[in-house]
Amino acid sequence: MSRFILSLALSSLLVSASGEAQTNAVPAELPVKLEELSSPKFVQALEKSGHTCVIAFGIIEKHGPHLPVGTDLMQVREMCLRAARREYTIVFPDYYFGQINEARHQPGTIAYSHDLIWNLLQETCDELARNGVRKIILVNGHGGNNDFVKYFSMSQLERHHPYTLYLVDPWGSPAVNEAVQAKTKSTQPGGHADETETSMIMALHPELVHLEEGKAESGADQKRLSHLTHTSTGIAWYAGYPNHYSGQGFNGSVELGEFQFQEYAKWIAAAIQEVKADTTAPALQEKFYRDALNPGGKK
Ligand SMILES: [Zn+2]
Repeated sequence: MSRFILSLALSSLLVSASGEAQTNAVPAELPVKLEELSSPKFVQALEKSGHTCVIAFGIIEKHGPHLPVGTDLMQVREMCLRAARREYTIVFPDYYFGQINEARHQPGTIAYSHDLIWNLLQETCDELARNGVRKIILVNGHGGNNDFVKYFSMSQLERHHPYTLYLVDPWGSPAVNEAVQAKTKSTQPGGHADETETSMIMALHPELVHLEEGKAESGADQKRLSHLTHTSTGIAWYAGYPNHYSGQGFNGSVELGEFQFQEYAKWIAAAIQEVKADTTAPALQEKFYRDALNPGGKK
């Protein structure tokens, strides 16, 4: 074998040996953020992502006296971006058009009407579908959206949609939640602008956290509706936490923030992987839409 042929054979060996790496090498250059993709790259991103897109659902609301009002948006977006870099998908631009009526009394809260938040989410899903997305992964990072996203998800069965909507709760893993709780030092329950949330913003944007100011207001449950033991009401959150602060944010640490991002990103990446592999839910949904047009198959 001549040296030329040998080197040719070697180079073809290299290509085939690294074929998978090279196949990945091109798409690996694809940004995960939708807004950073060119139009032709968007088409490549659709292929690489298995026609999936994540909407990282945040909000703009007060987060205690010490955190930015975009805390939930920044957190969930960072989790999703890290997840998408582990398991490729397209991440929709900043999305914070959710339910936050309970914080309308606090400066900096942007509370859109229920009509608008519904229509905007529906039209966003429809537009993604028109562009070829077939699986939409809604990752909700704001507790006030929980009921909204569940109802929205069920309502997708009302009429035919050419996509399947999957919901992901970043805090859906009890094991991760336990591991995070084990690392906290707060002596009072939290959940909003608390040690965990403060830590994530410290890890992401330390310059936006005013740790000492986290002591300026109470993050304790005011228990003003503790006499209601059999019912719930819309004013309950305001009754308990009028400062829009629940917990002891001043205990935050960069280390805890990093740990959470790492763990939540892993959880969300596993969810993305699951969605990409799933063919059953889309098939069942199509069957359901057909069956729903002719209940019982009698016509
Ligand atoms: Zn929050």
